[in-house]
Amino acid sequence: MSEQVYGRVALIGLGLIASSMFWAMKRAGLAGEVTGYARSEETRRTARRIGLCDRVCDSAREAVQDADLVVLCVPVGAMGPVMEDIAALLKPGATVSDVGSVKRHVIDAVLPHIPEGVHFVPAHPLAGTEHSGPESGFAELFDNRWSLLVPVEGTDPEATARLRALWEGMGANVDEMDADHHDLVLAVTSHTPHLIAYTMVGVADDLRRVTDSEVIKYSAAGFRDFTRIAASDPTMWRDVFLTNKDATLEILGRFTEELFALQRAIRTGDGEHLHDYFTRTRAIRRGIIEAGQDTDAPDFGRGQKK
Ligand code: NAP
Repeated sequence: MSEQVYGRVALIGLGLIASSMFWAMKRAGLAGEVTGYARSEETRRTARRIGLCDRVCDSAREAVQDADLVVLCVPVGAMGPVMEDIAALLKPGATVSDVGSVKRHVIDAVLPHIPEGVHFVPAHPLAGTEHSGPESGFAELFDNRWSLLVPVEGTDPEATARLRALWEGMGANVDEMDADHHDLVLAVTSHTPHLIAYTMVGVADDLRRVTDSEVIKYSAAGFRDFTRIAASDPTMWRDVFLTNKDATLEILGRFTEELFALQRAIRTGDGEHLHDYFTRTRAIRRGIIEAGQDTDAPDFGRGQKK
């Protein structure tokens, strides 16, 4: 059991990330009381049924009252309006944070509504699954994953240190990063790969109509992994691309150039180019495993399971 970091925490939005935070905070005793709010009656009912949050409130305003930490866990495009709604009820000295996958947009949308005397420490846990909703969370989601803190200019270092302690208590490794750099790094490591997976699955879906169900039937690991990524929440990912436009377009431009180079190598029979390229990418995979960020088990540890 770690020490309590905050007396009262409010989670706004009760999906995968918020529910995982709740269970991780409970596991380590990091918060005295956790309140929660979700937009739909259905999600609030589910949260009450499964014991997600100590108290589920019927409005965000009610949930944030007396909170020492408020975490916005809604899609990136909803952060600004949610913040505007709760701003007047925040107690002086409280910290507002978020878990959004894009940071510059969230800062621009949220910061103008942060009242005097309230701290704002944006954050982004680099952990997730393709599942969403209040029942998808689990306490181990953040274990040994990175969580990035993106303090804005003038953020109180003590407020940042306290949020760091919370994330570390939830099992994460914590780093600090500038917002624009964060958005570029994530465009490479997460956003563009998702777009490519969405495209590949879309292409295969078109093809499926021609080949009946062969694509599904014979989907080996490569395509199956694309389908897992492409099953991610449509609202969340729509917002990611709408709000991390510049960095994603920059990386997509580079991607297209490299794809054309590989296409040309295939057409001209340039085996050396292909071999060199695949040797370089294989080394990147090894680096990820050595850094403890994935398993070396064949087929991602799925074994013989279907
Ligand atoms: P999720 O499971 O889909 O849950 C989203 C929550 O936000 C739900 O409680 C939903 O309420 C609420 N919501 C949706 N639209 C809203 C709106 N317009 N106004 C108010 N509330 C709204 O999402 P998640 O995966 O936890 O993602 C939450 C945040 O974490 C996003 O900003 C995402 O970018 C970020 N993130 C996600 C991942 C990931 O892999 N999933 C990883 C890192 C960070 P209802 O249930 O009532 O509709």
